[in-house]
Amino acid sequence: MDFLPLFLRLTGRPALVVGGGEVAARKVALLLDAGAEVRVVAPELGTTLAGEYAAGRIRHVARHFAAPDLDGADLVIAATDDVVVNAEVSRLARARSLPVNVVDNPALCSFIMPAIVDRSPVIVALSTGGASPVLARLLRGRLESLIPAAYGKLARLAADFRSRVQHAVPEARRRAFWEDALQGAVAEDVLAGREAEGRARLEALLEAAGHAPDDAPGEVYLVGGGPGDPELLTFRALRLMQQADVVVYDRLISDGVLALVRRDAERIYVGKARAEHTLPQEEINALLVRLARAGRRVLRLKGGDPFIFGRGGEEIDTLMAEGIPFQVVPGITAASGCAAYAGIPLTHRDHAQSVTFVTGHPKRDGDLRLNWPALAMPNQTLVFYMGVHGIQAIRAGLLDHGMPPDTPVAIVERGTQPDMRTHVSTLAEVCALVERTEISPPALLIIGGVVTLRSRLDWRGQAAQRQAG
Ligand code: SAH
Repeated sequence: MDFLPLFLRLTGRPALVVGGGEVAARKVALLLDAGAEVRVVAPELGTTLAGEYAAGRIRHVARHFAAPDLDGADLVIAATDDVVVNAEVSRLARARSLPVNVVDNPALCSFIMPAIVDRSPVIVALSTGGASPVLARLLRGRLESLIPAAYGKLARLAADFRSRVQHAVPEARRRAFWEDALQGAVAEDVLAGREAEGRARLEALLEAAGHAPDDAPGEVYLVGGGPGDPELLTFRALRLMQQADVVVYDRLISDGVLALVRRDAERIYVGKARAEHTLPQEEINALLVRLARAGRRVLRLKGGDPFIFGRGGEEIDTLMAEGIPFQVVPGITAASGCAAYAGIPLTHRDHAQSVTFVTGHPKRDGDLRLNWPALAMPNQTLVFYMGVHGIQAIRAGLLDHGMPPDTPVAIVERGTQPDMRTHVSTLAEVCALVERTEISPPALLIIGGVVTLRSRLDWRGQAAQRQAG
């Protein structure tokens, strides 16, 4: 971060602007909006500032800048069209540790003016650190359309209730109370212009919250985090990730996805690398119950989809039995993510009329126990999860039941992540490939004729090549 964003209280405080033209006028307008006492030093004023002066809204010192002009100022803006003067203002101000901004010259600034979306008292300030003011304005345009104009009213309503909520709602539940109020019917009323209804509704919520038992449980969100690329999260996943108090996650969750969890949520890692079961499943189930019982909103974040080889069923079974409220959010499973990014359609009219997701993880007794005759049949795609370690057993099972040795096999390593790799081989050769290649987990096997399509359809590889060439 090159600049720390801060919001400055300027009401009634003296601010100095050097320069009297239109650029200066835009800065003056902002300072006036913030309630500052503005003094402009400039031999002459342009039209806009002359108007402000005539209206008695600013003071004017009609001469060139001199060092004593800085006396008593809380903040300084240099907006003349003379780079030498601007640099001098900056140097003198900084020598006195006065915050100074030089228009269009970030190097001479101790603070910069962000692009602003004003829904007072809600203010969004946006900066590119001077790298691209145009980009900042484009983003501001998007935010303007994203944040309804009535947001200010909603914030004022919240302010009116703030101290009462503080007294009536215990701290552990306060955030949830506000999130319900500000995302639910109260917000809808206010944003639709029905302020009185919104206010009455908030009153009722507050009344109800005052009577809620102290030990009401929180909630568990069982959320599929997808195969790794954060852009593959669903909107709902992202929303719940933003409102959870605590996140329980395992090894499959990529750094990029984890970074989108609310910053101050507690993070609990429960492992689950092969042979490194940091917490046994029963303890994870119990942990979720314990956290929710304490009234917290618990994000159980799982790789891919929670209902595909994710033991999501076991986790919600326990929650159900314990009477803990929960919701399940599907995610993009590894098979879909890997196939899409590798350019391997999982079904195709010429190659596969069905696709089967199979676990390659042996049962407790070390046996895979799969329906080999069915899996070895032609015209289908097999996707093996957790299959790399058991590759020899998989190869033997399929060959023994008549799958042709030249059946194409793809291994997709760390699918959808920045360091994703795809290897293509055949059923006969695949063990040799795994032996000579270091495959880093997680990795997935795709078996069947569809793998040949990759030579034509590897859209990401082709795009990368186009870029390189
Ligand atoms: N619930 C998850 C699967 C959990 S089982 C899902 O729906 O995707 C764990 C296995 O999933 C790994 O052994 C690996 O085979 C596969 N897997 C998960 N993420 C992957 C990724 N990004 N790339 C390749 N395989 C992945």
